[in-house]
Amino acid sequence: MSQLRAPKIKGFRIRAVRVPMEEPHRTASGAVTESPLVLVDVYTDEGVAGHGIIFTYNAAALKPTAELTESLAAMVTGQALAPMEIADGFARRFRLLGMQGLVAMAVAGIDMALWDALARTHQTSVLRLLGGLEKPVRAYGAVGYDGVADSARVAERWAKRGFHGVKVKIGYPSAAEDLAVVRTIRKAVGDEMAIMVDYNQSLTPATAVERLRALDDEGLTWIEEPVLAHDYRGHARVSREIRTPIQCGENWWGPHEMREAIDAQASDFMMPDVMKIGGVTGWMRAAALAEAHSIPISNHLWPELSAQLMCASATAHFLEYADWWNPIVAEPLRVEAGMANVEDAAGSGVEWNENAVARLLA
Ligand SMILES: [Mg+2]
Repeated sequence: MSQLRAPKIKGFRIRAVRVPMEEPHRTASGAVTESPLVLVDVYTDEGVAGHGIIFTYNAAALKPTAELTESLAAMVTGQALAPMEIADGFARRFRLLGMQGLVAMAVAGIDMALWDALARTHQTSVLRLLGGLEKPVRAYGAVGYDGVADSARVAERWAKRGFHGVKVKIGYPSAAEDLAVVRTIRKAVGDEMAIMVDYNQSLTPATAVERLRALDDEGLTWIEEPVLAHDYRGHARVSREIRTPIQCGENWWGPHEMREAIDAQASDFMMPDVMKIGGVTGWMRAAALAEAHSIPISNHLWPELSAQLMCASATAHFLEYADWWNPIVAEPLRVEAGMANVEDAAGSGVEWNENAVARLLA
């Protein structure tokens, strides 16, 4: 018999919350006014708890996702606390249904909670468990689809807080408006600040080539999702025609879709989403793909966990900071002088603010 420590999964608690946003976050593809979240807690037979977050984007998907997560959690209760093994087990079990959508989200939420519990079992962070060390990761803040004046005002606020970059939602009716937003922000934040723009999939490839040419001399760090997220060939066409790096990845399901995007040369940079890419297990496989192809990677949301995963990724680029879920997190990620700080993180760095969770239960 092995003498290694082998905690088992004793049970789960799955809760649904609706976290209102301080201000609605507008994009060219609609506004986000709240975050419907499924909170996953796993408990081990050694008395350790781990946490994961599933973001359902739309409140209509909240309850079904919570229920689905309950069912999946029941399938692995009693098993060894071995996240990679469990992720591969789920992949086999759902091969016919397919590992996208709500199933993939539920699996990822469970995976995050399992890695968190495993790190806490060993009294360390997820990052250290993976063999990495804390290091400074540059963070950027988000600016919504807020028009020329308001976009610049919000961008300036991030600059004053010491952030090294801002990402701005554009895709206005005309190219001239997009350009005006970018130039006003540049004037407000200065030349040192990285400016990224995000079209949220709102253009066709042909229009994108036209529209993005007008931005090619603005010194943008990247242009994100100009066309539909799964139109890899469309993105590749845009990326060939435009000098500014193209960024996508937040909507890819699992490392296999990322591989297809890489094969198609869809984008210069990649930003997997820790949920859609398959939790910590999926992220680490995605990070290996990025490293093997020398592609800089950034994250999408999940600032606490993603900051650690970025430190464990060889080609880490920029950390997307977001405060959307801060109300339910006991100690949200700290960003100091524009750098994410994960020095004191236990597990994934996430503990619930139980008072807020109780208030926001759906
Ligand atoms: Mg985006």
